[in-house]
Amino acid sequence: MSTIGFETRHVLVGGQWRPGASGQTLPLVNPSDGTPLAEIARGQAADIDAAVQAAQAALDGDWGRLTAAERGRLLLRMSALVIEQADELARLEALDVGKPLKQGKVDALAMARYLEFYGGAADKVHGQTIPFAAGYTALTIREPHGVTGHIVPWNYPMQIIGRSVGAALAMGNACVLKPAEEACLTALAFGRIAQQAGFPAGAVNIVPGLGEEAGAALSSHRGVAHLSFTGSVPVGQLIQAAAARNTIPVTLELGGKSPQVVFADADLEAALPFLVNAGIQNCGQTCSAASRILVERPVFDQVVARMADRYRAFRVGPAMDDLDIGPVISARQQEIVQGYLAVARDTGLRIAGQAMLPANLPPGGCYVAPTLLAPAAPDHRLAREEIFGPVQVVIPFDGEAEALAIANGTDYGLVAGVWTRDGGRQLRMARKLKCGQVFVNNYGAGGGIELPFGGVKHSGHGREKGFEALYGFSALKTIAIKHD
Ligand code: NAD
Repeated sequence: MSTIGFETRHVLVGGQWRPGASGQTLPLVNPSDGTPLAEIARGQAADIDAAVQAAQAALDGDWGRLTAAERGRLLLRMSALVIEQADELARLEALDVGKPLKQGKVDALAMARYLEFYGGAADKVHGQTIPFAAGYTALTIREPHGVTGHIVPWNYPMQIIGRSVGAALAMGNACVLKPAEEACLTALAFGRIAQQAGFPAGAVNIVPGLGEEAGAALSSHRGVAHLSFTGSVPVGQLIQAAAARNTIPVTLELGGKSPQVVFADADLEAALPFLVNAGIQNCGQTCSAASRILVERPVFDQVVARMADRYRAFRVGPAMDDLDIGPVISARQQEIVQGYLAVARDTGLRIAGQAMLPANLPPGGCYVAPTLLAPAAPDHRLAREEIFGPVQVVIPFDGEAEALAIANGTDYGLVAGVWTRDGGRQLRMARKLKCGQVFVNNYGAGGGIELPFGGVKHSGHGREKGFEALYGFSALKTIAIKHD
């Protein structure tokens, strides 16, 4: 426990850190070596209920009275504190999620940037005046929903909390955050930093716990006015059903099988680092991971060979060693990814390149050898399903029409990349790809804090990031005043 530096077994409700109502805890395990890391509260419906009530009290009290500019200043102060504490946050995320320290640092700074962006935007969301009937003035204003529920996964806690809770606070909502049971430490640190920044009690509440307990209680609570969920498709469907029962809006940020499409005229030197890194960053456990690489036949062999070289050079090891790739999050996730690799083997999918796992890895760690599979048929299971591990498939194609058919041919539609020097094709592809974001001659630029993000099809609906999130985290009210 001493490696963490603060009490991890508490929930944050109404400005107070206290044990969960049941007194029960859940273990956090360090995925780099399988050792116990900390205990977190096993929050229950009673904790969620108390958190929702505390959030409502904040809305009715000090938090609800702040102006938009005052809310913005608190977010900016919090951003500065996150930057000051970025090394410590990176350490916590590395221990908890297993990502190399440098990636943890990137995530901490991204969280700071979200808080800065939303802090700066808080007082810049304007309504409209609408030309209407004679003798009337009509206008729109944006109001907070009220209490917002935020259910987040374990893969990028800091980035996802920054974009979701940050935007909701900017619009004046009071938040109840349910972090993932696999990784909670930076979520708890977020609560402490919010307090240091001076957020009034109850504006930010945090209840760790199991999805089917604390998560289900939050998603079905009648005091919650909006739900933001980031996670898997099946749980997203449960959340949407729960939201429907209370007739509240829901943002679903779900999974993906995002393609990068490489045409023969592409600048391969520029493309290669993005093709590989966007696939295996955070050990492939990224919703927008470019897990399918589609390559036009004339350059297929060359691209595969050069990607394979990169795979063979990857250094895998414990997060604190800060190499290229760490472990996956858990033994369960390791089993899932290894199951996919077994399917690849049994169906004759060729390993084009693979990183070596060093012999001296900690025996309890959840390591998987990063693996490049090529050529893959577009309808192969591994080319269609989200693996959520360090595995990419490379699929050959001939021409634009086939590239589009393959790229659009899965249940998902989150992100796509296109690499070509042909300007007309850049635009045609960008318009015809069925997904929420398209990157042309880049992929995932700068974390995309400013760029609205979200999916279509099974990848979800609603948008977070950028200014668009501020509309999602507010309700539009129309006022028509008759004065003559
Ligand atoms: P998950 O759906 O199992 O869990 C996500 C969160 O939901 C956790 O906090 C969990 O406790 C909670 N939860 C689980 N069951 C619940 C229930 N019945 N009711 C309420 N809450 C419940 O997902 P995961 O395995 O932790 O995360 C991986 C998935 O998340 C992948 O599919 C990935 O693509 C997706 N993801 C999407 C984005 C995005 O922005 N689109 C970002 C990161 C991850």
